[in-house]
Amino acid sequence: MLSTILIAVAVAFVVMQVSGFCTTIYLHRAMAHKGLRLHPAVALLMRTELWLFTGINAREWIAVHRKHHHFTDEEGDPHSPYLVGLWKVLFLNAFYYAREAKKPDVVEKYTRDMPHTRVEAVLGRGSLGLAVGISMFVALFWAIQGGWAGPVIGVATFIVQGAAYISMNAVINGACHAIGYKNFQNTATNLRLVAWFSSGEGLHNNHHQYPASSKLSMKRGEFDPAWPVIRVLQALSLAKPLPLPSEH
Ligand SMILES: [Zn+2]
Ligand SMILES: [Zn+2]
Repeated sequence: MLSTILIAVAVAFVVMQVSGFCTTIYLHRAMAHKGLRLHPAVALLMRTELWLFTGINAREWIAVHRKHHHFTDEEGDPHSPYLVGLWKVLFLNAFYYAREAKKPDVVEKYTRDMPHTRVEAVLGRGSLGLAVGISMFVALFWAIQGGWAGPVIGVATFIVQGAAYISMNAVINGACHAIGYKNFQNTATNLRLVAWFSSGEGLHNNHHQYPASSKLSMKRGEFDPAWPVIRVLQALSLAKPLPLPSEH
């Protein structure tokens, strides 16, 4: 039983981290800001990962995020600690996100460049993705542990990885607009330690300065874990980043 729980902790951490990388590379840097182009197979793989383990609808996520950049920390920003306070964003970020994502006019306005595809008919249904994702966890832990405990641990692990992912995003949207240091004059902040665990997203002050940069670290001592992954994809001809701000 103890070894199964250790496996569960490792699985939750790895899946949450993979979801973080898929979010930042596919949803955020490639789709929302067009900082890089991804091979369609990589894009589909990452979108499917997010569908299974986060239930995110890509179009909705991109719309809410673009609106955040449009109105950053001013009236209209869907999740600004300047408007509602830091603690509310930290604890209710998922609620603020969902409230905005369910506005069809917002989604339509901010995703006009995204064609409606057949893939979306399936991958746009987040509850279906989550149902398949939970089933995969139940099957995995039933194979490892068996009995009644396996499926229970499977469901619990799925909930833990989802909660960890939601918390990570709340820290970016809350803390990275409230505490931390700034390289540039905008309302976002950098948190180096957060960047290590959020595939680079913690370097949020840099990101708001150069939204289309597919590399978020800008100074010595800053590390963006997603950037080496993008470089590997680039070496394999699976990703094509735009020139970085420093290269202009
Ligand atoms: Zn922001
Ligand atoms: Zn952004």
